[in-house]
Amino acid sequence: MRYLLGNWKMNMSLSQIDKFTNGIEQLKPNIFVGVAVPSIYYAYCYKLKQKMSVGLQNVSEYVSGAYTGEISAGMLEDVQADFCLVGHSERRQYFGETDARVNSKLKMLLSKNILPVLCVGETLEQYEANETRKVLNEQLTQGLAGITATDDFVIAYEPVWAIGTGKTATEAEIDSTCGYIKEIVKQILGKENIAVLYGGSVKSTNSAGIVNLPNVDGALVGGASQNADEFIKILNIFK
Ligand code: PEP
Repeated sequence: MRYLLGNWKMNMSLSQIDKFTNGIEQLKPNIFVGVAVPSIYYAYCYKLKQKMSVGLQNVSEYVSGAYTGEISAGMLEDVQADFCLVGHSERRQYFGETDARVNSKLKMLLSKNILPVLCVGETLEQYEANETRKVLNEQLTQGLAGITATDDFVIAYEPVWAIGTGKTATEAEIDSTCGYIKEIVKQILGKENIAVLYGGSVKSTNSAGIVNLPNVDGALVGGASQNADEFIKILNIFK
């Protein structure tokens, strides 16, 4: 399966969602297309859900109870969310999400059969210090602790320095790092060919060289997913 996922982050409004939904026409069969929406707008995206998958950007690591402001995996199941991001670098950076918390969230989603999209990636400092593989190894080893080969999830490789900056890793770097992630997942879980998406300033003008790389199974798109025409242009680049 190949994937084109959007992440609206803390953007969009009711009228912008209407415009986006009306702008979506023909999708491609055999490609999982979806957007991770702000949770308050999830129910409003019922029309969009008839056209593509709709997911969330975060989930609580707790089951239920006195956790003000949190949304549980059970609630995501209740509203039939199609997928959920976990461990996005903005959650790690601004909301103190550790690998251990990311691991708990991943397990919560799996327990409710919601497809988790586990986000991993190195910071600019780590990239410049040549630590990309070491960081990914740590994030995956801890993030996937207790997960089994039969669990269904997807990984998004997003170098933190490429998110929202207009910078992208080179095609060679993207392909070899996504290949490395597949190897690590195979080593940790014995799971063959996990789907690995690339994210970080992907847009229609640069996606041709990215989404069709041998080790890349699709893209996680932030800024460029807010506009239906641009999002569909990226989809049409998938071979
Ligand atoms: C993201 O939020 O996951 C992302 C990749 O953002 P952008 O495409 O805007 O860099």
